[in-house]
Amino acid sequence: MTDTDGARSVTRKGLRDLTLEHTDLGPAPTDGPLVDSYGRRIRNLRVSVTDRCNFRCVYCMPAEGLPWLPRADILTYEEIARLVRIAASIGIEQVRLTGGEPLVRRDLPDLVAMISKVPGLTSLSLTTNGFSLARMARPLADAGLTRINVSLDSLVRERFAQLTRRDALAQVLAGLDALAGCPTIRPIKINAVAMRGFTEEEVVDFARFARRTGFRVRWIEFMPLDADQIWRKEDILTGAEIKALIEAEFGPLVPVTGGDPSETARRYTFSDGIGEVGFINPVSEPFCAQCDRIRLTAEGQLRTCLFALSETDLRAPLRSGASDAEIEQTLRQAVWGKELKHYIGDKRFRRTARSMSMIGG
Ligand code: SAM
Ligand code: SF4
Repeated sequence: MTDTDGARSVTRKGLRDLTLEHTDLGPAPTDGPLVDSYGRRIRNLRVSVTDRCNFRCVYCMPAEGLPWLPRADILTYEEIARLVRIAASIGIEQVRLTGGEPLVRRDLPDLVAMISKVPGLTSLSLTTNGFSLARMARPLADAGLTRINVSLDSLVRERFAQLTRRDALAQVLAGLDALAGCPTIRPIKINAVAMRGFTEEEVVDFARFARRTGFRVRWIEFMPLDADQIWRKEDILTGAEIKALIEAEFGPLVPVTGGDPSETARRYTFSDGIGEVGFINPVSEPFCAQCDRIRLTAEGQLRTCLFALSETDLRAPLRSGASDAEIEQTLRQAVWGKELKHYIGDKRFRRTARSMSMIGG
């Protein structure tokens, strides 16, 4: 199972032939790098630090918010750092902090500083709505943050407010300016959720924005993870459609090659080499076969797929005196059972009870 190349071909085949989906997993390996039972090597951990948020994006949260977790249920920074240390000791290389909105949790730079010292990590990044970045960019950079994704769906004040239900475009743009002044946080990526009937209008403006600023703009297909359950297949605006809109204005885009093979975005530059855009197409072009991710929710549940229907509780062992070795094996066993694929668009698809902000996107 550690022969990744061979195992990857099993995974690809598995994506076509669902009879290969495991029913009886057996025990996970007790040593070697973190792998699942399809041979996928797991290197990427997303950690949600809070379920709370100061925005109410229509594709994620209801207007009235959600019932927030009691504070005592949320992992402390010490607990998160311990889990990250254990995960890094068996092959996790990249950690991304997310939420909810991670910057609403107090003293986030303290956690960044703790995690940035963990041996074995090659990248420590943050996904944020950007609202607090004007104030937080510098402390985050000083604490050791190396990469960032800022979510931004519109460059027009009223449309931004319509989508996020907050009149806060100016704050987010000020946050991006602050990031531009922090050269140790690179690249700066902008994430926009692509929704048919909304996104098309500004695709070309976002492409110009990418060229003008050097920020990498990426569109991510709308997924059925919204709390209000407004998602319909017809609402998906695919990456291919957005690419066509950009090419109609700027001419053929040029693929960026040689990146990380588990990278989810299809990356392109413009023919003059100025600016980069990308397309994350989990629905129209699933990348489950290359998925190297696991997720930890704010209350310490490990999820091995965004769309997982079951979770592994890591908070209970953390809080009941389990040793690092015991937690490591619980982690290995959970990862061993990682789902083959999501079933969006298939009649077997079932929505998870959690929406995006409760998972940590
Ligand atoms: N609050 C932070 C933010 O918005 O960047 C971090 C958490 S948010 C849940 C993480 C990412 O998930 C954001 O880029 C957001 O746009 C994306 N997202 C939320 N709901 C989504 C959905 N239904 N489909 C696709 N992406 C979604
Ligand atoms: Fe908040 Fe991020 Fe969800 Fe928007 S996408 S409501 S900013 S958690």
